[in-house]
Amino acid sequence: MTLAHGRTYLAIPGPSVVPDRVLNAMHQAAPNIYEGALPEMVDGLLPDLKAVARTDGHVAIYIANGHGAWEAAASNIVRRGDRVLVLVTGAFAAGWGAVFDRLGARTEVIDFGKRAAVDLARVEVTLAADRDHDIRAVIVVQVDTATGVRNDVPGIREVLDRLGHPALYMVDCIASLAVDRFEMDAWGVDVMVAASQKGLMTPPGLGFVFFNDRAAAARSDTASLYWDWAPRADPQRFYQLFGGTAPTHHLLGLREALDLIAEEGGIEAVWRRHQILARAVWAAFEAWGEGGPMELNIADPALRSHAVTALRIGGEDGTRLRRWVEGNAGVTLGIGLGMADQDDPAWHGYFRLGHMGHVNAHMIMGALGAIEAGLVALSIPHGPGALTAAARVIAEA
Ligand SMILES: *Cc1c(COP(=O)(O)O)cnc(C)c1O
Repeated sequence: MTLAHGRTYLAIPGPSVVPDRVLNAMHQAAPNIYEGALPEMVDGLLPDLKAVARTDGHVAIYIANGHGAWEAAASNIVRRGDRVLVLVTGAFAAGWGAVFDRLGARTEVIDFGKRAAVDLARVEVTLAADRDHDIRAVIVVQVDTATGVRNDVPGIREVLDRLGHPALYMVDCIASLAVDRFEMDAWGVDVMVAASQKGLMTPPGLGFVFFNDRAAAARSDTASLYWDWAPRADPQRFYQLFGGTAPTHHLLGLREALDLIAEEGGIEAVWRRHQILARAVWAAFEAWGEGGPMELNIADPALRSHAVTALRIGGEDGTRLRRWVEGNAGVTLGIGLGMADQDDPAWHGYFRLGHMGHVNAHMIMGALGAIEAGLVALSIPHGPGALTAAARVIAEA
């Protein structure tokens, strides 16, 4: 006997839950890729995608996951020997930095640790010391999915502007697009990368690189033919949009996902839903933490993402709890990725709850209820009142 039978809930921070409507939209006969409904549909899809990113700039789509989007963005910008400033707040910014490294950039890392956001004062000191404006790009993640931190994206732009530093500003929004507020044009972001499988509610397989005219003008001529964003963003023929065969069914799914966003009331409504659900999650974790070892990885709520919450629980209890909740309640929690070396048993003391994309109040309450059952079953000490606290946040919204 297990109580996990029934509809499962993948509550990891990506890939996220794929809505039935997206799945159904993908379930159709292969469309013609040369003319007709598919190319026409894609013409209308691109403006809607840019609206989600709050940009009038360009977008290039790749048949790739987030790592592919990372590489696409980097290849269009960096030349061997370029200096790149990498602002690390967890495993993901470090991972993107490694892509620049491999392409021959001279990366310079400022590591803010695993429990803090980018410290603007430190960034300002480093950029101010670069009097020759040698640093070609500054890269950062909006939300580091490993730590759950959300960085101050407009704040970093203000630092660059205050110093008159011309570095290109490149932001990874793979976890946060269509979850946490992000305003590409208003915040002066030159290049932004995203992927289909998190806030955009579509299976993994589409990578997006958004870029403005400034980044287009700065494009490196060393980008390889396949990664070159120019023909993808301004194709003469439909096939150039994807560097070959279109990702037909993913595009059908993405169209439906963008419709879901529009029907909800647009991106502002989507941001607001995620904000409230995230607060409900934090209220529960804080209550449990009052009477036990559980602790939110990011202490300051103003620095927490609305996409994912990372928890420290200690010992092996992160892994024990994940296994119990998946096996007995049908909810899959995220592992403690990059929180400690995975050869190091310490990482078993973490877990993450993804709350991005197609999630609503009953799913969040269900996941929290399943976690509470796991805490009781495994005799992990915890404070009372967590579900009441979460319910109150939802009720008051
Ligand atoms: C998920 C994620 C990635 C990696 O995306 P993949 O599709 O797994 O390659 C990169 N950056 C952030 C912030 C992410 O959340």
